[in-house]
Amino acid sequence: MTPVPHHLYVHVPFCRLVCAYCDFVTVGGRADDTPRYTDALLDELAVRPAPGELRTVYFGGGTPSLLSGVQVGRVISAARERWPDVALEEVTLEANPSQREAPDWSGLRAAGVTRISLGVQSLRETDLVALARGHSASEARGAFASARESGFENISIDLIYGIPGQSLADWRAGLEAALELGPDHVSCYALQLALSPDEWAAPPRPGALRWRNRMVPRQDDELASDQYRLTEDVLAAAGYRHYELSSWALPDREARHNSAYWARRAYTGIGAGAHSYDGAAERSWNVRDLDAYLLAAETGERPIADREVLDEQIRAFEAIALGLRRVDGISRTAFVGEFGHDPMERYAAGVAATVRNGLLEVEGDVIRLTSNGRLLASEVLVAFVPEPPTGSAARR
Ligand code: SF4
Repeated sequence: MTPVPHHLYVHVPFCRLVCAYCDFVTVGGRADDTPRYTDALLDELAVRPAPGELRTVYFGGGTPSLLSGVQVGRVISAARERWPDVALEEVTLEANPSQREAPDWSGLRAAGVTRISLGVQSLRETDLVALARGHSASEARGAFASARESGFENISIDLIYGIPGQSLADWRAGLEAALELGPDHVSCYALQLALSPDEWAAPPRPGALRWRNRMVPRQDDELASDQYRLTEDVLAAAGYRHYELSSWALPDREARHNSAYWARRAYTGIGAGAHSYDGAAERSWNVRDLDAYLLAAETGERPIADREVLDEQIRAFEAIALGLRRVDGISRTAFVGEFGHDPMERYAAGVAATVRNGLLEVEGDVIRLTSNGRLLASEVLVAFVPEPPTGSAARR
């Protein structure tokens, strides 16, 4: 029997300073704890099941590039021991371009990292100041060049649009400047503001900013919508394929680990606050607090906080929500095979309305968002919400 692909997420919560607006699991000023944390990750790996065949590893954070190449290498080696005889297809590490915390590029390369996700965010100094990113555009350019020189052939960059004060022309200029770096993959996220642009511009209220929920902008945000459309045009003209709401890739450079999430593949998450999914009906997550995580892992127990069992209705909804993130959409045949019903029939009225409104299109076996639908993905999903919406679905 062919082994089922499996994926490993490694959460690294350390940051030099914790940005007030961040809602990732992070901790500031504790870089001295990275050796102990690395040991704890290995302790946790040793007690976690190792199902299937490991295909990808992803170090996310936090700032995973605060780990040394040796520390990252220890985790990768331990994973290879837990899942022996596999050819890893992709090992990604998120890196911060700040010179103050310059990543150990050659050490990371030697450790087995194959792909870098670089948090450039913008190449416009005004944007970086507004975001309080702690790095300059020239540092971002330097980090990209250093990673390339160290042998990384697969580099993704993150960019942010919808920043107050960033015009359509500014975004185009920044996007074109970013493409001059020659990234293999580009992720563009809309800034999520909990304050209006006027409120944002007035007092410094860092707690108001949210970019964790990486969805495309809402219809009332016309400028951000125009920026999203411009992104589609500019990246397509440069040869990048739009394959997920926020993701564009050169040929064969799609993010395999993230693609596994969107395809609802099984993954194991280790580290503080990391989530795991068994590929069927159970999702679980670790304790978020760093000290609680360390203590639990060191006792030889999985530092689990809780788990939930997803009923079939929720799984079907998630299959639609994640499937529609992919520009290629959902196969109705595959959906019927898994859930026993055709979403076009189960949610006929809502779906017909979204098709009529030009947000959803059905072509043979495939259901996908239209270009307008990608701007209003959350609204489209309402057509597929089971009645009444369940707590678990609402948590998504
Ligand atoms: S925004 Fe980035 S650098 Fe700031 S605390 Fe969050 S993960 Fe760390």
